[in-house]
Amino acid sequence: MRLATITNWAYGTTVALALLSGGTMLLASQAQNEERAAVAQRYALDQASSKVAMLEASLSGRARQFVVTGTAADLAAYERGRSELRTIEHRIRRVQDVGAGPDELQALKDALGVLDDLQDEQQAAVAARLKGDKATAVEILFSPNYEQELDRANSLFERFQYRLDQRTETEVAGATKVARIWRTVSEVVLAITALLFLCVLFFIFKRRVLHPVVKLSDVVKRLAAQDYAAVPPNLEQIDEIGDMAQAIGIFRDNGLERLRLEEEQNADRNMRDLLSRMTQRMQASDTLDDLKDVIERFTPQIALGYAGRLYILDKPRQAMVEICSWLDPVHSRTEFSPLSCWALRRGLPHRTGGQNVDVPCDHLQAGGDDEADFICLPLTAQREILGLLYLERRGDAQQAPTRSDVYLTMLAENIGLAVANLRLRDALREMAMADPLTGLANRRHLDAVLGLELAAGERPLSCLMMDVDHFKRINDSFGHDAGDAVLREVGATLKGSSREGALAFRFGGEEFLLLLPGLSLDQARERAEEVRGRIAAMRIEHEGKDLGTITASFGVSSTPEVCGADKLVQTADAALLRAKAAGRNRVVAADRRQEHAVA
Ligand code: GH3
Ligand code: MG
Ligand code: MG
Repeated sequence: MRLATITNWAYGTTVALALLSGGTMLLASQAQNEERAAVAQRYALDQASSKVAMLEASLSGRARQFVVTGTAADLAAYERGRSELRTIEHRIRRVQDVGAGPDELQALKDALGVLDDLQDEQQAAVAARLKGDKATAVEILFSPNYEQELDRANSLFERFQYRLDQRTETEVAGATKVARIWRTVSEVVLAITALLFLCVLFFIFKRRVLHPVVKLSDVVKRLAAQDYAAVPPNLEQIDEIGDMAQAIGIFRDNGLERLRLEEEQNADRNMRDLLSRMTQRMQASDTLDDLKDVIERFTPQIALGYAGRLYILDKPRQAMVEICSWLDPVHSRTEFSPLSCWALRRGLPHRTGGQNVDVPCDHLQAGGDDEADFICLPLTAQREILGLLYLERRGDAQQAPTRSDVYLTMLAENIGLAVANLRLRDALREMAMADPLTGLANRRHLDAVLGLELAAGERPLSCLMMDVDHFKRINDSFGHDAGDAVLREVGATLKGSSREGALAFRFGGEEFLLLLPGLSLDQARERAEEVRGRIAAMRIEHEGKDLGTITASFGVSSTPEVCGADKLVQTADAALLRAKAAGRNRVVAADRRQEHAVA
């Protein structure tokens, strides 16, 4: 019930009770009026009846006076008294009209009857005196009988007055009683009104207003301090306070929703930060090992609650090979054919197990874990499959899973890009380090390798520098393509001679270099002789034409035997020059003196 309804009802009831109280007060006052009227009536009748008795006594005296004197004046006085008595008598006879009871009426009737008899005797005495019979007249009015009648009339009037007093007393007592009852009733009603008013005040202000308002204000204070554990009381009352409680409930729900959204946004931001950091680290990874390290560290933080493996496609073998894993996945094999994975076949993410109704991949061994959830995310670049990000969520996983699949997809895309980048970088590096014509490492690669070898600086390192003799003539005689064919063949021969960690390089033009780690100067010279012999034995044809015999000259040097590591190539080159000068198609080893000469 609304407060307005309750107050209206209370107000109506209070007004009704007040009216009732007023009515009873009126009734009490009316009873008092009746009491007063009864008293007034008795007083009037009392007076009238006393006057009648008195007048009768006075009339008897006047009649006796006339009978004794016989004067006209006394007769006139008697007649005046009679008419006066008649008037009052007439008034008294109307007593019945004002509610006299039969007792009273009988008493009055008796008294007036005696009065009539007395007046008859007075009339008889007056008539006798007027006839001159004074003796008879005196006899009538002074007789003991007349005196007795006079006393009787008095006593009858007294009885009437007594009866009258009795009735009046009863009526007054009744009216007093009624007035007292009504007064009591009015007081009780007034008390009930006051009590009701107090009850309404108590109910409205304490039970319906004060308590809920105190509770609600406490809740509002806590909600303002972002304490959403504060729950507004469940007030079922349909009034302003109930509305307020509902409004506060809605405010709290909104606050909770806002908090949830903020948490989601924070989680989103954190996830994006994590992804972006992971991507930066992956971009900066130079080797697959670096990349594996980054993936193993970051992926469990992004694919929350998922164990997993990263597979890379081994193209020659056409096999997906695990390169790293995290949180000990158990359901997918470490190596499988790309055809056994639906995600790789379709080039789209594939999710099976748990509540996902889909065909399981062949590389999975579900093994009795009904709640396990498997996600295969293909890693692609320019529509070419590079690998697979495999995630599995086991039924016993404690951590809540990543909310959105979007992050998993982004994760797979980023890893795919990183793998593609690494491949591209490897390819570029290879291209930068390799000579396209011969397939041998180029001079840049030589610098890098020399740097590493020199830094290690533990074992002897020999260098064999080689230059094709009169190469220009081949170009000139058979064309540039024939020259290229010769260079390719020489390169292949050199490569075939690079054993025991030896590395072959194309130094530039028709010059080649062989690095021989661990070999002494003599061993290097022997190897140079061997290569020289093999080159001289080569038969090269180009477009059906025999290009003739090819020879090459060699300069050999060795560190630390001949020179410092930084002069190794230089001294070998000097030895080569001397081989050329000495007639070509020969091997010349550098010695200390030459090294000093170069210096
Ligand atoms: P020498 O015995 O003194 O070494 O005489 P040479 O003719 O071999 O030496 P020279 O330096 O005079 O000539 C080298 C030639 O090699 C010049 C150049 O045109 C040619 N050449 C350099 N690089 C290539 C290449 O990649 N392919 C072809 N076909 N010729 C090349
Ligand atoms: Mg040359
Ligand atoms: Mg040459």
